[in-house]
Amino acid sequence: MTDTWVDGNDLAAPLREIFAVAVTVARGQCAGCGRQQAIAEVRVYARAPGLVARCPSCDTVLLRLVRGPDRVWLDLTGLRVLEMAVPSEAQ
Ligand SMILES: [Zn+2]
Repeated sequence: MTDTWVDGNDLAAPLREIFAVAVTVARGQCAGCGRQQAIAEVRVYARAPGLVARCPSCDTVLLRLVRGPDRVWLDLTGLRVLEMAVPSEAQ
């Protein structure tokens, strides 16, 4: 059996579609306690190096976002799943 794979460039189009939607209406599942909630409901701490979003139930760090002059670092370690509606695929 041979495993086949492609490089990360094949993620470009799907990720572009995902992150073009309004992420705040997306629902995320906390990796700490399993709570599912809209991203708009999380607690965001802006007085840190970047933005830190924490679960309102268990305080797990769900997301860290740091913006530099020409790039962004996004850590989603604390989100088990991020669910968002996207437009239906064209036929
Ligand atoms: Zn939690």
